[in-house]
Amino acid sequence: MPELPEVETTVRGLATVLAGDRLVRVAVNRPDLRRPFPVDLVQALTGARVVALGRRAKYGLIQTDRGQTMVFHLGMSGRWRIDPAMPDRHDHLRLETGRGHVLVLNDARRFGSVDLVDTAALNTFAPFAALGPEPLGPDLTVGHLARAFADRIAAVKLLLLDQHVVAGLGNIYVCEALHRARIHPLRAGGQVSRAALSRLVPEIRAVLDEAITAGGSTLRDYARPDGELGYFAKDWRVYGREGEPCHCGGHVERIPQGGRSSFFCPRCQK
Ligand SMILES: [Zn+2]
Repeated sequence: MPELPEVETTVRGLATVLAGDRLVRVAVNRPDLRRPFPVDLVQALTGARVVALGRRAKYGLIQTDRGQTMVFHLGMSGRWRIDPAMPDRHDHLRLETGRGHVLVLNDARRFGSVDLVDTAALNTFAPFAALGPEPLGPDLTVGHLARAFADRIAAVKLLLLDQHVVAGLGNIYVCEALHRARIHPLRAGGQVSRAALSRLVPEIRAVLDEAITAGGSTLRDYARPDGELGYFAKDWRVYGREGEPCHCGGHVERIPQGGRSSFFCPRCQK
């Protein structure tokens, strides 16, 4: 399942072939993903120039010179293919650029989505309206987390997964950031000290930045004609490492928490 760093890497990869170019041919191969494609998608994109690409939480943004932005979500299995050598039966949206590049949105399980939003109204687009600050942006501060966590008895792990608190942080990155900041995932939000929050904010950025950097190096391999954007693996310190040693001498444990697994080291996370 693509997380924020994969979406960021995907957007950067798309930008290398899309930014500034015109979409000369647009085709949809089926009526819907998780929900129907916008009825005017082909008409709205055909002939439009891509003026900017970006990301909000786990959504990719492709902004055109017609005042609209195509907002895509990769769902569980979505990926963009750039100049694919062979068509695939899960290719659902196909864009062809003036420079001759072909970009295909492929999604076997179809939990993804594509929307068309007026660029001026992006902040009021329903999935964006209640989102907390971007973890890599300037608004994620110790003060923001201190206010969001104040008097909360909910576990810090669950608060960090709440999109109203921070936008787009997934399970892997919360596990890793809490470990690096030495905070126990079950600790109540209101019981996390200011000193611990001061460790946590830079560690959230670090785990995301490292994953994006790793994805960026993977991306070079994707420059080949059948390249696919969307997924990469990384070595985690606790995620998926139940029973393995921690650098502190302890061992990684796994507990169910909020319907997902939390991986942590009970020796160094308090
Ligand atoms: Zn440890």
